[in-house]
Amino acid sequence: MNADQLQSRIRQTLASGTLSHAYLLEGAEQDELFQLAQGFAQAALCPHFSAAAPGFGACGICASCRKVAHGNHENIHVVLGDENSVKDEMVAQMQEHLRRKPYEDGRNVALLCRGDTVTQRAQNRLLKTLEEPPGDALLILLCENLENLLPTVRSRCVIFHVEQESEAAAETEALCAVLGELLLKRAPYYQKAALLADLGKDREAALRFVDGMERWMRDLVFEKKTAAQEEALACVRLLEEARADLLRPSYAVNYILKALLLQLSL
Ligand SMILES: [Zn+2]
Repeated sequence: MNADQLQSRIRQTLASGTLSHAYLLEGAEQDELFQLAQGFAQAALCPHFSAAAPGFGACGICASCRKVAHGNHENIHVVLGDENSVKDEMVAQMQEHLRRKPYEDGRNVALLCRGDTVTQRAQNRLLKTLEEPPGDALLILLCENLENLLPTVRSRCVIFHVEQESEAAAETEALCAVLGELLLKRAPYYQKAALLADLGKDREAALRFVDGMERWMRDLVFEKKTAAQEEALACVRLLEEARADLLRPSYAVNYILKALLLQLSL
């Protein structure tokens, strides 16, 4: 899921009062992931939380929200780890925080960063909190690859893989470059179709692809990398039409992409 989908999922969970004690967010960019976790914590603590508000649903302006944004809310404990790992004593301190009565109204929250580096010993300690979470404490674990955590830890968390902007953008760019080369080589249809097979069910990804392909075509024209300037401009127009079609929810993504591929040529 992407960040928007994560936000709406958490917002619904908070609105229905069915928040779990432990969440594990997996993603490639740890800074972005931390911002998301902070937004999650903000919503979990905001006394004016609303399912109709944007993002995770926090009001963003109350005293509690401002403290979270400034990183000085007393109810939140952040474990950053040192340069090598998250150690046993760091998890012990976190547990102490979660067991204490919250300083301010609401629950205690812990954000544990760099989950991939939590030592085995510290993970075993962490298990105690996951098995018997104190009060309505909320623990948000962040990691790059959840395989680095013990299965016993993973199985006690609600897991979300967050596909981040940067990751998705890099994937799209690579895909467009490959398809561009196939178009320049006049590769057969089936080769091009195989490349886009995964996009057929994912409107968001198809939109990213169409945008990326348009950029690729425009670069081709600007840098005069091909003699087929007219054809490249015709492709830009086709891509713009495909984008307009993709924005209509009643139009099937795979048909739009198929029609586009049959017409794109350089
Ligand atoms: Zn608020």
